[in-house]
Amino acid sequence: MSEAKQPDVALPTAPSADAPTEMYNASCHCGAFVYSILASPPLNDPATQVMECNCSICSRNGYLFIYVPNTRVTFQKGSIQDFRSYSFGSRKMGHYFCGTCGASCMARSTDPTFFAGLTCVNVRMLENVDVKTLKLKFADGKSYTPPDAAAAAAA
Ligand SMILES: [Zn+2]
Repeated sequence: MSEAKQPDVALPTAPSADAPTEMYNASCHCGAFVYSILASPPLNDPATQVMECNCSICSRNGYLFIYVPNTRVTFQKGSIQDFRSYSFGSRKMGHYFCGTCGASCMARSTDPTFFAGLTCVNVRMLENVDVKTLKLKFADGKSYTPPDAAAAAAA
């Protein structure tokens, strides 16, 4: 096989509507952003996999993330538009951080054809979550080539 190897970076799907959920409160460090997320399944559920990724941005920011439908991210203070955002490479993702304290809170696809409707929520911002107790799943994002980039490279 001479084809480029695609590593195991499964793109997420939305949880089923009747799956168990748990509400978590979250904030950036300075409190400019306060939000809650409805996670499904709950973080302590054995089925939950918190992603730890080795891509260039996750490794720098220390993201540990879960996928949450955008509709299950609710802002009590600030909004997604109020974050500073950063995009790079294929620019399919917006990485959102607080412009005051720099906390990296979440990322969202900016491309409707690329797992639209889901937010990557950094669980390090959640209250009362001990990251040492979480079951982490390693994602080899460093080796992942977005479909567009792979097509462009092959052209
Ligand atoms: Zn802040």
